[in-house]
Amino acid sequence: MLLAGGTGVVTQELLKDALKYGKCFVRNGNTANYIPELQRVNKYQLGICAVGFDGDLPEVVEVGDSRVPFTIQSISKIISLILAVRDRGPDYLFHDKVGVEPTGDPFNSIVKLETKSRPFNPFINAGAIAVASCINGTSADEKFDRFLELTRKLCNNKEISLNESVYQSEKETGDRNRALAYYLKASGVLEGDVEECLDLYFRMCSVSVTALDIANLSAVLANQGKCPFSKEMLIEPHSAKAIRALMLTCGMYDGSGEFAMSVGFPAKSGVGGGIAVPLVGRMGIGVFGPSLDEKGNSIGGIKMLEFLSEKLDYQLF
Ligand code: GLN
Repeated sequence: MLLAGGTGVVTQELLKDALKYGKCFVRNGNTANYIPELQRVNKYQLGICAVGFDGDLPEVVEVGDSRVPFTIQSISKIISLILAVRDRGPDYLFHDKVGVEPTGDPFNSIVKLETKSRPFNPFINAGAIAVASCINGTSADEKFDRFLELTRKLCNNKEISLNESVYQSEKETGDRNRALAYYLKASGVLEGDVEECLDLYFRMCSVSVTALDIANLSAVLANQGKCPFSKEMLIEPHSAKAIRALMLTCGMYDGSGEFAMSVGFPAKSGVGGGIAVPLVGRMGIGVFGPSLDEKGNSIGGIKMLEFLSEKLDYQLF
């Protein structure tokens, strides 16, 4: 049993009920079809994990496919942002490189690049590619190693590694991201070599995680940047706060407003089927469900979170 702030209680039973509810909706969606390796995944998988840190020791509750590996995809945009803000400072990053406003457009949209001097926010592809170009390191390898090291710490899992076949698949089919990156280079936003930056971006998206890993990452964000297990400060508190705010307004792409109304939690999704949810001062939630809606968000995942938001006493609104 996971005590969440004394009043709202997440139990194995509650998560089981959430899973049962979420499963009713999975058939209505599909795996991401624009990345061949993701399309092949079994869309009927669904799992959820919560890591609470109210007491001395963090507590973990999980059900379903919470230990099944999937690729982190856009949830990596949180981790690359932590690194870039650390390397360049928030003023430079959020002023010169990306904005902090929602777009209302799909995550891979190109349409606003020509009318604005920088991408709208760091959680759309254009913004994340610009952010990736600001990560310090002498090569894509060195930059990716820094990303992987931080990911392992945030997820409390030293085994996390790259899914080579998804990486190759993304690289082969990522022409839209290539178009975004070259446009950003032409407009002076992307720093350094375009292909090296794209290679880093594709690799960061292709790191393999589980819902448990994502729940741990979310718990760090919810705990103002401190790992509830090691007690190590992993994210600067100002970054953790900025990221949670961006998750609320931009984390579910052009479905962020609807998600805020139906669930009301800060969240970041990825087309691998993951959703990260930090509930400040209480717990981190990680979801895995690769059946996606038309906006690229996990259908079963959203429904499980809707169910939990009804049952928990954690309300932002
Ligand atoms: N790798 C994916 C892409 O660049 C990430 C997108 C996502 O998860 N929304 O298209």
